Amino acid sequence: MENKILQAAQVIKDSKYAVAFTGAGISVESGIPPFRGPEGLWNKYDPIVLDVNYFYANTLESWKVIRELFYDFFGKAKPNSAHQVLAYLENTGIIKSIITQNIDNLHQEAGSKTVYEFHGTAHTMICLKCGQKYQSPDISLSKLPPKCKECNGVLKPDFIFFGEGIPEYAHNKSFEEAEKSDVFIVIGTTGEVMPASMLPHTAHQNGAIIIEINPEESLFTNNITKIHLKGKAGEILTEIKKQIEEL
Ligand code: NAD
Repeated sequence: MENKILQAAQVIKDSKYAVAFTGAGISVESGIPPFRGPEGLWNKYDPIVLDVNYFYANTLESWKVIRELFYDFFGKAKPNSAHQVLAYLENTGIIKSIITQNIDNLHQEAGSKTVYEFHGTAHTMICLKCGQKYQSPDISLSKLPPKCKECNGVLKPDFIFFGEGIPEYAHNKSFEEAEKSDVFIVIGTTGEVMPASMLPHTAHQNGAIIIEINPEESLFTNNITKIHLKGKAGEILTEIKKQIEEL
């Protein structure tokens, strides 16, 4: 394993355009459970609450679970060492951007600047009637559903629900970054969510070396991954940072 970490550190340090691609696994060490797997949220909740048609038809029911899942959890979560190392690698010019499937804002809280949120964010909400946007921490969730201060319309979190398309800007920038990258670091994602799971394939087809950090195998591991670092994101990235500093 030590050799593999050293190898990955060398590849990352020698890269011209390294990009990180993150999933729910990077936030597990911050106390946010992933959707899938033994500790996954879908063992406890019905994913239907995040279906866009269900949301419009059963707004209150949907919001009750959304509050518990995303705002009670996320409100308390802090970036972990994995988020911090990625921010450090960006600040030192080694990583050019982060594409995340996460909606928890933890990359930005850790200090990352160029973050493409492929599935949107829980950090803002939008009024379904007039389009006004709000910072989520400014909105009280003591009474549900939350309403617009301007027109009293219902607010919806700014992340995409099942049945909705990927935000255009994030989609286009993410695929551009994947095409440009020469090293693509895939962290904590199963590769089961489309079209996000196309991004590592796009990078690979354009010649990028795929490095993967995940305690388990994903759909990429035995397919396009060149170096699989089997372990927790926080621990592995901390080791990579140490090695890069020594190289
Ligand atoms: P997923 O839930 O399908 O899979 C999580 C992956 O993380 C698994 O492969 C697992 O082995 C790995 N993992 C678990 N602990 C880890 C650790 N400590 N370090 C590294 N890897 C670890 O997640 P996904 O593939 O990202 O897709 C699920 C969807 O759920 C995404 O669209 C995402 O937006 C959303 N989601 C986001 C959050 C969040 O914002 N934090 C939380 C749950 C789900």
